[in-house]
Amino acid sequence: MDVPQPHAVILPFPAQGHIKPMLMLAKLLSHANFYITFVNTLDIHNHFLELINQTTFNNLFPRLRFMAIPDGLPPEHPRSGPQFIRDLFISILSAAPKHKFRDLLLSLINGPETGGGQWSTPTCVIADGLISILAIDVAEELHIPVIAFRTVSASSYWVYLNIPKLIEEGLIPFQGDDDMDGLITCIPGFQSLLRRRDLPSFCRFESIENPVLQFFINQTLAMTRASALILNTFDGLESPIISKLLSFFPKIYTIGPLHALLESRIKDHLLLSHSSSNGSLREQDRTCLAWLDSQPSKSVVYINFGSLVMITPDQLMEFWYGLVNSEKPFLWVIREDLLLGEDMVNETPQELTMRTRERGCIVGWAPQEEILAHRAVGGFLTHSGWNSTLESIWAGVPMICWPQLADQQVNSRCVSELWKLGIDIKDTCDRSTVEKVVRDLIEGKREEIMKSSDDIARMARDSVREGGSSYCNLEKLVDDIRSFMSSSQYASSECNEGRKL
Ligand code: UDP
Repeated sequence: MDVPQPHAVILPFPAQGHIKPMLMLAKLLSHANFYITFVNTLDIHNHFLELINQTTFNNLFPRLRFMAIPDGLPPEHPRSGPQFIRDLFISILSAAPKHKFRDLLLSLINGPETGGGQWSTPTCVIADGLISILAIDVAEELHIPVIAFRTVSASSYWVYLNIPKLIEEGLIPFQGDDDMDGLITCIPGFQSLLRRRDLPSFCRFESIENPVLQFFINQTLAMTRASALILNTFDGLESPIISKLLSFFPKIYTIGPLHALLESRIKDHLLLSHSSSNGSLREQDRTCLAWLDSQPSKSVVYINFGSLVMITPDQLMEFWYGLVNSEKPFLWVIREDLLLGEDMVNETPQELTMRTRERGCIVGWAPQEEILAHRAVGGFLTHSGWNSTLESIWAGVPMICWPQLADQQVNSRCVSELWKLGIDIKDTCDRSTVEKVVRDLIEGKREEIMKSSDDIARMARDSVREGGSSYCNLEKLVDDIRSFMSSSQYASSECNEGRKL
């Protein structure tokens, strides 16, 4: 008879930067023989199943299946645009997603979804920390242990945890005349690192009652009710801050960079990288790889602002002039929904179009991991999303950081001042600055950055090799979840008594 295997229910926040790392974890656990139910919101679920090659996927991961709950938004909502994420923060906490998640868990415990005995009753829920209230309330009620997976850096999460303290000290909300370069000295471990402008973007709201600020505060606090924390980072990069987080979680599993761990553990995963089964929610335009092949080594600057950031037409022009004026080849991902306001295509100055034809390549969505690993790429102009940052670190590509949302402000400060992996141009993107930093980076004028990029990339590689910290932490996570199966008295609420902020 087959030995019973754990069944993990994985619930990501419905956005690209969350689904991708959580799907990577799902694949790794499935590779360790776990059964996985991966729960997306309905529109993402439908879209995702259209994008992936289901036959290849099912062959490689027969124990990984997808289910859906509603996102709480009305059907007519466009699910894109500048208000989308803000609306989602509110709707995802409404009654419908919570009820459906509860129904879904109940059906997994009792009902037909257990699928003939193999898909046992859930052993644990691995919940995105950004929707921890939804997941933990339901799972606690049903006595299923919850492990939180926060998809941001340890450093950003540490700053989030300290936001109540920043409010107490009167540092948030910002006053109109605040010095944005003033040092924030009350966050342990970061006393001389962060300026006011480096705090998460939602600290810039004028009122502490702002629903987005409140959403982040509440989810961050709720997450500490989970019995353990998973982070997509590696010890060599963030160990001092990871130690501080241990006062909030009895166990922390640092298992990043996940894309690298996945590649090192599951060689067949490469079969999937040409389809969208690697967690990308958009079709990747691979033509840019051929363009890269024709460029000299380390000559190209790659520009990508991730899946959510939107920019104004003026900002687009400043970046564009800065890039062409730098006279370096560039590969730029301009998403169809990148631009706020009017479509600029018909108004692009002819000069820019011509100069772009000479040395530029523009696509709508790209195979980013492959691009960063390409020998022609010498620098990455990024919005400092955590996945992009880790992918760049792994590839040893130095960064120019232009953060916009949430954790990106903290990441970019760490990249430039703590890890010395890039240049932070936050809050500015005038063409002369862009031209100068692109030239500096591609011409290798910043020696300290070049050296740190090599050193830290090596550390990242070591962490996912057999015996490395992330490799071993994944094994521990697998073992610990297995142990939940034998300890029926386990209940996350009991484990967490007495741990408060
Ligand atoms: N990504 C991609 N192609 C693109 C843009 C982004 O595959 O053209 C992937 C990227 O590799 C990363 C994720 O989408 O893994 C974006 O996550 P990140 O945390 O960097 O930013 P977010 O989109 O959440 O702002």
